[in-house]
Amino acid sequence: MNKPRIDNARLDSIVAKARRDAEQRGHGYRERALGMYPWICGRCAREFTRANLHELTVHHRNHDHDYNPPDGSNWELLCLYCHDNEHSRYIDHVDGDTGNGDVAAATGNPFADLKAMLERGSGKG
Ligand SMILES: [Zn+2]
Ligand SMILES: [Zn+2]
Repeated sequence: MNKPRIDNARLDSIVAKARRDAEQRGHGYRERALGMYPWICGRCAREFTRANLHELTVHHRNHDHDYNPPDGSNWELLCLYCHDNEHSRYIDHVDGDTGNGDVAAATGNPFADLKAMLERGSGKG
């Protein structure tokens, strides 16, 4: 069988690691929050099922996405609309925040990490 070229193998492992890190930092808390709380928006009390669960988001009460205590005390499940509301109230204080903080962080981090890793690794050849 064909071995992948070394560069590809290295890239694969970097991507895999970035993805794992992102899951731990980004998606990990979502899974835990959804396992911990009923699938109901904390603001409008809308109920969710597997079919529309992607519209239920995890909000960080203190707006710090890196603060994820295991007891879930910093998490609140909010629907997209209420989550948006929550952030637009807060946006006055945060420069450059789009109001989709959680979503942007979850999708943006893997690429940011990957880019940083590649740049760091490229010097070594
Ligand atoms: Zn809601
Ligand atoms: Zn939020």
